[in-house]
Amino acid sequence: MEVILAKTAGFCFGVQRAVDTVQTQIKEGTAPIYTYGPIVHNEAVVQELEAQGVQVLRSKEELLNLTEGTVIIRAHGVGKEIYDLLEKKGINLVDATCPFVRKIHRIVQKEGALGRNILIIGNARHPEVEGIRGWCRTPSYVVESVEEAQNFTMDPKGKLCVVSQTTFNYKKFKDMVEIISKKGYDIIVLNTICSATEERQTEARRIASRVDAMIVIGGSHSSNTQKLFEICKKECENTYHIQELEDLDLKSSQSIRCVGITAGASTPKKIIEEVQTHVGIKF
Ligand code: SF4
Repeated sequence: MEVILAKTAGFCFGVQRAVDTVQTQIKEGTAPIYTYGPIVHNEAVVQELEAQGVQVLRSKEELLNLTEGTVIIRAHGVGKEIYDLLEKKGINLVDATCPFVRKIHRIVQKEGALGRNILIIGNARHPEVEGIRGWCRTPSYVVESVEEAQNFTMDPKGKLCVVSQTTFNYKKFKDMVEIISKKGYDIIVLNTICSATEERQTEARRIASRVDAMIVIGGSHSSNTQKLFEICKKECENTYHIQELEDLDLKSSQSIRCVGITAGASTPKKIIEEVQTHVGIKF
């Protein structure tokens, strides 16, 4: 039995960096420690950190009620307002915003100062996009679909800077930029998509196309895991989505000679290794 584990399975650079940041704070003993939102979309990881004294702030109101402690900003980043608020309250801020997201904050700040409106291609309800908007000094807009791009309008004399949510699909981004570019605005476009998602999907597709069974590990609500599952299922009918080892019901079969494993961006290494070891031993 051959087991192929995707090199890109699990935490991306930004998420790993954020989790490491929390661990460092725990070691330094800077209690009470809070994260503004769950540090990663994985209940097991959040619970483990909670057991070590790290509390999750789930809203701005909870943040407003704080009187002391350290607040860690997760990889998605936040708007300028949150930095100002923490500074005003004298609360220690540890910034684990992914550098790729931070770069977008700087772009929209700079282009806003030059008088450009900002158009973000992404999901308006996603915390990363909300955070980016929080750095815009000029009017900002969000479009997520081709239809929304077609309907997009602003002052025809206005200048526009287009950026993307880091995890947006590149092909869709290109199509939407093409539509917006034809509208006649003075426009600059900056592709701010992070390569981590695309690399993970490309590798998953490649592995799934050559194995007899494929396992995708990740949270049931994780959209990037769902996307990985769909990609793999297209290539390999025998594809399983599990959240943890207990969910695995891979029937031992003579026809399974090679199993592939990949995982979404919020799946901890520990769970991936457990599955890898189990599959290697069982078959
Ligand atoms: Fe950073 Fe990319 Fe990971 Fe987002 S997906 S946290 S931008 S490395």
